[in-house]
Amino acid sequence: MGKRVMIALGGNAIKQPEESGTLEEQMRNVATACGQIAEIARRGYDIVITHGNGPQVGNLAIQQENAQDIVPPQPLVVLGAMTQGQIGYMMQQNLRNLLSDDGWEVVTAVTQVLVDSNDPDFADPHKPVGPFYAEEEAERLRSEKGWTIVKVRPNSDRQWRRVVPSPIPLGIIEGRAIRKMVDSGMIVIASGGGGIPVISNEDGKLEGVDAVIDKDRAGEVLAEDVGANVLLILTDVDSAKLDYGKPDERPIERMTISEARRFSDEGHFLPGSMGPKVEACIKFVEQGGERAIITSLEMAADAMEGRAGTTVVSG
Ligand code: ADP
Ligand code: MG
Repeated sequence: MGKRVMIALGGNAIKQPEESGTLEEQMRNVATACGQIAEIARRGYDIVITHGNGPQVGNLAIQQENAQDIVPPQPLVVLGAMTQGQIGYMMQQNLRNLLSDDGWEVVTAVTQVLVDSNDPDFADPHKPVGPFYAEEEAERLRSEKGWTIVKVRPNSDRQWRRVVPSPIPLGIIEGRAIRKMVDSGMIVIASGGGGIPVISNEDGKLEGVDAVIDKDRAGEVLAEDVGANVLLILTDVDSAKLDYGKPDERPIERMTISEARRFSDEGHFLPGSMGPKVEACIKFVEQGGERAIITSLEMAADAMEGRAGTTVVSG
């Protein structure tokens, strides 16, 4: 069996911050990402891909709200499912076009991820999602929908935003099915946007919840489920840095998990961005993964050969 790599794509792989999110823009970005992925596939790696969906869910949330008098708005959990299909389609088509000569099969799996209904984040949500609101709108949504809405952008006329829980992923519901697909040689796109968060209810049945799971954390769980050798996290910086944003900022080329923990404790990786990536790398290697890599989209193929990025190894 060939080596297996779990690739986690950041939001900018699909929509750059300054873009509005047209299909053309998104297809162009996806093509860049897929070019790198196709290159890695041709080197003989089995490939599983996950991706973020923040900007796409944000746009869909605006559509739901503005069309609510015409069609019933769908809850956040359904928007998550919708974006898995949307982004999966774009990647599936791109990869297929790039790899058709080699007879690759590419599929997207709509993926549910189990979380604990007692996760402390449900009582204290902090992950911002969707549009920004003025105070009156925020007040109305709070009472009508029971949303938690907090002030996130002081000194603007739309300073309020919904926050939702970001619970820890406990397991990938479709994990075994995904593994079977990868084992049979398919490239699988799965757990997009961190997965569709579900809880096990009082009757032991799955039920969707309005929450957002961190895609790097969920990607790590999926990496274990599919038996990946390498976890490759692609974002908008070429490596993790020490003293990030300070005058003496410096890239980390290689770190052991104990070094990674120490740097984490020293506060080098910001929570909500680099923090969860490093945390995912540590957990992956600790659970027996060979190595985990953090780098930019453009450097992906080089970083797989150790020529770029930050590599996390055991020790
Ligand atoms: P993604 O969409 O890929 O998950 P994030 O914005 O969540 O992207 O994470 C990448 C960001 O992490 C970088 O753009 C950078 O601003 C931030 N960051 C925080 N700490 C560090 C660090 N120590 N080294 C490099 N980047 C860092
Ligand atoms: Mg992120």
